[in-house]
Amino acid sequence: MDLEKRGYMNRILTVDLTQEKFNTQSLDERVVYRLLGGKGLATWILYQMVKPDVNPLDPENVLALATGPLNGTIAPCQKLCIASKSPATGTINDSYMGGWIGGELKFSGYDAVVITGRAEHPSMLVVDDGNVSVKRCERLWGMNTSAAERKVIEELGEGFKVAVIGPAGERMSPIAPVFSNLRSAGRGGLGAVMGSKNLKAIAVRGFRGVKVHDESMFERMVWIALRTLRMNEVTVRSLPIYGTDNILLTINETGALPTRNFQTGRFEGAEMISGESYRSELWLKDFSCCLGCNIRCSKIMKAKRGGGEVYVDGPDYETIFSLGSNCGVSDKEAIAYANYLCDEYGIDTISVGVIIAFYMELYEKGYLKGEDLPVKPIFGDGEAMVKLAELIGKGEGVGKTLQMGVKRLAEKYPGSEKFAMHVKGLEMPGYEPRAAQGMGLCYAVSERGACHLRAYTAGVELCGYGGGADPLSHDRAKVQLAIDRQDEKAVVDSSVLCFFTLFGLKLKEVYQMVVSATGFEYKDPDELKKLGARIITLSRLFNVREGFSRKDDTLPYRCLEEPLPEGPARGQVVHLDEMLDEYYELRGWDHEGIPEKETVSKIGLKDII
Ligand code: SF4
Repeated sequence: MDLEKRGYMNRILTVDLTQEKFNTQSLDERVVYRLLGGKGLATWILYQMVKPDVNPLDPENVLALATGPLNGTIAPCQKLCIASKSPATGTINDSYMGGWIGGELKFSGYDAVVITGRAEHPSMLVVDDGNVSVKRCERLWGMNTSAAERKVIEELGEGFKVAVIGPAGERMSPIAPVFSNLRSAGRGGLGAVMGSKNLKAIAVRGFRGVKVHDESMFERMVWIALRTLRMNEVTVRSLPIYGTDNILLTINETGALPTRNFQTGRFEGAEMISGESYRSELWLKDFSCCLGCNIRCSKIMKAKRGGGEVYVDGPDYETIFSLGSNCGVSDKEAIAYANYLCDEYGIDTISVGVIIAFYMELYEKGYLKGEDLPVKPIFGDGEAMVKLAELIGKGEGVGKTLQMGVKRLAEKYPGSEKFAMHVKGLEMPGYEPRAAQGMGLCYAVSERGACHLRAYTAGVELCGYGGGADPLSHDRAKVQLAIDRQDEKAVVDSSVLCFFTLFGLKLKEVYQMVVSATGFEYKDPDELKKLGARIITLSRLFNVREGFSRKDDTLPYRCLEEPLPEGPARGQVVHLDEMLDEYYELRGWDHEGIPEKETVSKIGLKDII
């Protein structure tokens, strides 16, 4: 199969940083046919290469950057998949980054870069149109993300696209992402994995083109996808004008806006931090964060602080919930400034907000008595929230402990685990699961812990997209909805496109682009969806090998036992056990969540793993 004419470069670069050895190998045709690329390819690579029980911060752990067949083409909204075993959760973890580095990797001649080992000195990996080198870069160590990225480009020359870590990644904080061009592969501590490898930056440049199978058909299918995005209310108006924060008031109305560490789902200051409010008062500019994006949901603003001002990329909905309502803060500039600090020091805004909110509740409930506090951590105090974000970013004072995440923090305060809002060690995102049962299931079964992006049922349950669904139902139809969303998302993550395209596109349009680019004979969109299911089961197999099972597919006590106090979902808890039974059965996994042998065979995994 001539993969070079089917949207692939047909080369994987393997880098051993310990020995400074580089290798190139071809893609396995069966693997890309069955797993496509991006998430599918990275999951397969990790399943093959990461030995069970390897410490995520050990040189043996693998960091994979993987593109899909649509990267580097004219397809809309292209991202890059970065994956590794997570230092936050111990599970497989894949995260998606905007910026321009995904396409550039293809232009430089590679579909994926697989990094193992540990460099002796702080280093950067340079991939320049097929030429690979590792350069020492002690001078960059300690630099904030934007300065480090600028410095690399200054030193190497124009045209390089660069991924970096900040000081938190160097310290191997499990909440440290990888950053590029103000975007991040945010969740699960991928920046810590880079830090553990002494790898400050990855710089990529290339001049090659990506060939697709049927060029004129592909152009036509991309045109149809772009037209579909232009004809959809969410992708042509809501996201471009109000960013991802366009939903905040709706989520608040449905009682699903996590507030004061998920104590309730309604925030009295919601109007103040809505997309409408940011738009009218603070956002200066809309921009596309990556190759081919015609949605432009990203925003730039200035935030004033301490007599000065800084430019901020954002904030987006997840940041506004975590640093805003979840900390009881309605000060827009405080949220934006904390967002800026997180980006510069290289820490994940969702995790940071949830950690601070947990710390505030610890204080509220008297767990911090007698401790030397840098600031009174009181819900609603924007200054305290900013100060704590700064300490976490710098890893100073109490920040040294907080940077380890909610799960580890809760271990210090017996009893507090009941309101430690994480799943498998990953802090919870911005949808109260008691008010959207499908999201509860999705958080619980997501392979990387609490994640809203593995299966976004919130759009249907809370915003009424696609005809809507009762957010409080927890029947087989709801479980099937979660599975459908999970499988579709796995396809998009393997292509690799931005998740937000799915607000406008159906799987049909993605299928049309994938088939005309690859020439793969998937007979209909449903066959592509089955490919998504195959990837979900493969990532499950990775986690099962690490000892994960039903006992880990759970939610915080607060979600399962404490009824929501107000709003349309008042009195609700998440009915997880019933949904888990249905989920495992529909997936072909046993009662403990272990994929059955027949399932592994039937879905086409057996002979490629
Ligand atoms: S929709 Fe938003 S996040 Fe997605 S590619 Fe465009 S600007 Fe980036």
